Amino acid sequence: MGAIGRRSVLLGAGLLPLLRISGAAAQAPGPFSLPPLGYAFEANEPHIDAQTMMIHHDRHHAAYVANLNAALKDYPQVAAMPLEAMLGKLAELPEPIRAAVRNNGGGHANHTMFWGVMGGKGGAPSGSLAEAITRDFGGLEALQGAFNKAGLGQFGSGWVFVTVAKDGKLGLVARPNQDTPLQDGARVLLGNDVWEHAYYLKYQNRRADYLAAWWNVLDWTRIAARFEAAKAGTLAI
Ligand code: MN
Repeated sequence: MGAIGRRSVLLGAGLLPLLRISGAAAQAPGPFSLPPLGYAFEANEPHIDAQTMMIHHDRHHAAYVANLNAALKDYPQVAAMPLEAMLGKLAELPEPIRAAVRNNGGGHANHTMFWGVMGGKGGAPSGSLAEAITRDFGGLEALQGAFNKAGLGQFGSGWVFVTVAKDGKLGLVARPNQDTPLQDGARVLLGNDVWEHAYYLKYQNRRADYLAAWWNVLDWTRIAARFEAAKAGTLAI
């Protein structure tokens, strides 16, 4: 066995198990890293199954991070920018990496937000956030209806978001692919991923059922914290 063969055996025996248990270990060097999920893959059962959560976080999100780091490898000035600044200034970025930052930087921002608003038990918001939802949408049920309709109407892959302006005004937008309201300088209160990879194992073509079930896993305490941070100007992504 030559040197390369021995090295392959060593890698197979030693490194691969580590790579399987830690998404972070599998990443190429770069400014961005895969954030931990913050709860168990099973935390959103039965509405979102553990296998979907694992594949979505450890593989799909990890790939956006790895591809973003790879795109930035030869652009240290861009790599030094905060993610929300990159996405907010896409038109000013070097043309060769603009699409990669849009797709993979958007993917990193969207999924980081996505994990952060889930892991809860659903229910309803309270306090100033509940008041804002009533003021801008007519209540939680009306918001859910409009949001799910926008998610169902998003042709192909994309996202549906509730945005929050610095004055606390809420809005509803759908975007294709990994586009994000951060590109418009807005901030995201919450958002749902309507790419098929987010729901296909459990729901197959029934996107409407996934959209309806998703509200049961929201963590309104964390979403309320995003609302307050957005109004304070401290919500990054
Ligand atoms: Mn996704």
